Amino acid sequence: MILISGKEVAESLKKEIATEVAIWVGEGKRAPHLVAILVGNDGASQTYVGHKEKMSAEVGFRSTVLRFDADITEEFLLGEIDKLNRDPEVDGFIVQLPLPEHISESRVTEAIDPRKDVDGFHPVNTGRMMMGMPSYLPATPDGILELLKYYKIETAGKKCVVIGRSNIVGRPMANLLSQKGWDCTVTLCHSRTKNLKEEVAQGDIIVAALGKAEFVTADMVKEGAVVIDVGITRVASDKTKSGWKLLGDVKFDEVAPRCSYITPVPGGVGPMTIISLMKNTLKAAKKEIYG
Ligand code: NAP
Repeated sequence: MILISGKEVAESLKKEIATEVAIWVGEGKRAPHLVAILVGNDGASQTYVGHKEKMSAEVGFRSTVLRFDADITEEFLLGEIDKLNRDPEVDGFIVQLPLPEHISESRVTEAIDPRKDVDGFHPVNTGRMMMGMPSYLPATPDGILELLKYYKIETAGKKCVVIGRSNIVGRPMANLLSQKGWDCTVTLCHSRTKNLKEEVAQGDIIVAALGKAEFVTADMVKEGAVVIDVGITRVASDKTKSGWKLLGDVKFDEVAPRCSYITPVPGGVGPMTIISLMKNTLKAAKKEIYG
């Protein structure tokens, strides 16, 4: 069994991005500029945005965080998005989700100029991705593809089972792996899937993205499978200083011995997600997707 180290791959890609940025800036061009909008004071969102700020600095980007109170109106937020859409000094921006309930995530997502949508959530980017056209890919599926590439894991003709059909992870993952170049035969499972165990057990590659701690057990995994664990669930623990620990969607200890490759949690998919956002921001600065 080979443990896939997202940390190692992320570190290597981070160096490549930093080198590219240094060359770009060395040619007298403006450093890529990423803006994050944070609404309210959700703890996890603040942590994620903090990581994005830190990584931006590490690769040589300029980064700005716009913080707004949870009680701002949707109209106000749409106005801020419009300003960013028009600002020539901003290459890409993200609106950290989740948003307060009174603000429509889909209206906000659609208001972002697809050329600056470095999260890749706008329907134009989603549509282009589905058609195999150049687009900003959503960060988590793109990060998983980078892991498969780095470890030279064969995907062509393999049966891949994705568990979870969210717009940001499961569904784009299933779509991308079924495209030419990756060439998997994909089954997309969700909460209404019948005989889920049997479906998952068919997978040469299993991507678990359902958000249920330790859901995938050894009896669901074929010998020699590649297992990618996307889930992150915080559970109480008396063994850590913080009083909590992170669990994936896979029961790692019993599943790992059956696998050819497996990602750990933490240190697997997680570190890749931010790297993909950096990749998209650099593409936005270089106008690689839309010219
Ligand atoms: P989500 O929007 O809650 O979607 C979960 C999906 O799992 C849904 O499609 C749901 O089915 C399905 N599901 C739930 N229970 C199931 C069950 N018992 N059997 C089969 N399918 C089931 O979650 P998400 O945003 O995709 O995130 C999934 C997990 O990945 C979460 O733990 C999240 O924290 C983590 N995550 C990690 C990263 C990272 O960087 N590592 C990034 C993003 C997300 P229905 O559609 O039928 O309801």
